[in-house]
Amino acid sequence: MEITANNPNRKSWLEVAENSDFPIQNIPFGVFITKDDIITIGTRIGDYAIDLGALHQLGYFEGIPLTDDIFLQDSLNDFIADGRKTWRLVRNRIADIFDATKGGLRDHKEHRAEIIFRMDEIEMLLPVNVGDYTDFYASKEHATNVGSLFRDPENALMPNWLHVPIGYHGRSSSIIPSGTPIRRPLGQTRPAEGTNTPGFGPSKLLDFELEMAFITTASNHLGERIPIEEAEEYIFGMVLFNDWSARDIQAWEYQPLGPFLGKNFASTISPWIVTLDALEPFRTDNPEQVHEPLPYLQVDGKKSYDIHLQVGIQPEGKEETVVANSNFKYMYWTMVQQLAHHTVNGCNVRSGDMMGSGTISGPTKDSYGSMLELTWRGQNPLSMNDGTERKFINDNDTVIMRAHCENDTVRIGFGDCVGKVLPAIEFEK
Ligand code: CA
Repeated sequence: MEITANNPNRKSWLEVAENSDFPIQNIPFGVFITKDDIITIGTRIGDYAIDLGALHQLGYFEGIPLTDDIFLQDSLNDFIADGRKTWRLVRNRIADIFDATKGGLRDHKEHRAEIIFRMDEIEMLLPVNVGDYTDFYASKEHATNVGSLFRDPENALMPNWLHVPIGYHGRSSSIIPSGTPIRRPLGQTRPAEGTNTPGFGPSKLLDFELEMAFITTASNHLGERIPIEEAEEYIFGMVLFNDWSARDIQAWEYQPLGPFLGKNFASTISPWIVTLDALEPFRTDNPEQVHEPLPYLQVDGKKSYDIHLQVGIQPEGKEETVVANSNFKYMYWTMVQQLAHHTVNGCNVRSGDMMGSGTISGPTKDSYGSMLELTWRGQNPLSMNDGTERKFINDNDTVIMRAHCENDTVRIGFGDCVGKVLPAIEFEK
């Protein structure tokens, strides 16, 4: 089925600012709450949120097989479970409804008032009920940098890394939508030199991780696997993902079983899921792989995406400083390789599962996706526009992540992924 929603020549009768992340070619999916406390599934064009529940009730999706309450829900899980054909039909229809050449809704004042909200009239919620969250470790530059800092610069990349898309199971309860503040976590840290007692207190090395995450539909039954050539069919879309990390807690706890409390206290996502369909024009060459992967991980065609990524830090009441510019295409392991690998043992993937990419660091020092790497564990502090320095993230700093794709005709963005760090809660030693 053709993705007519992606037509780059299409314009909307809704006003869209130049350089908006949300032209009519985007049509992402999210969940929002109105001032009247109505929760609904929606999409966005320009700075307008569109209530898909109301649109459906008023008959605008006629002819598309959808259950009556599919959009009147507080998560996209059921809609995502309907599968790619339905996602395409709905996106194509939304594009038609809001096309500048189409009357219909445009000329129906009462319907418009029920369906369309300004973004400042609504609040974004989590788009999916994340059943399981997996975090990969798929940027070669990041894995090499972290290996150098935490272990041994001579053998920074573990020998398995070039053969296996490394990942671990994270925690979904602490995934939060953009705008939700986070608390600086408390935890154990390595004993000070010459002592045997671990430290305890608020993390001193609080960090962000610049990641993207993909959201899956129900994919396979327990015991079966997803062949890599089918994997793309099961990816609904992507969000920006800040996998907050406490480096001092992480360094003390991570051996032998890997990340735990240094990672699971909060992960912030951008609230609009941009569909893989919308990203179609931005496919790019896959990274060259050092070893030929095993057959189940061999990829045909372009499975990487050219997505510009940016991180800024804004001290309270001050100007933001951009600290990193990276790109999703730097990922060594592509999403389809990750999904094929995740299920090769028969592990079942469900609708609404979220797979983090791992920190996306590029090849240059200004493209690293964490403060750990940007400051080389605090050795080279970053200068901020307000004259202060940062080794890691301070209390009351806001970390802002952005992502967009752009070609000659279209720009597709993700909206901001924002989180402010609040001081740790008072504690008894
Ligand atoms: Ca991570």
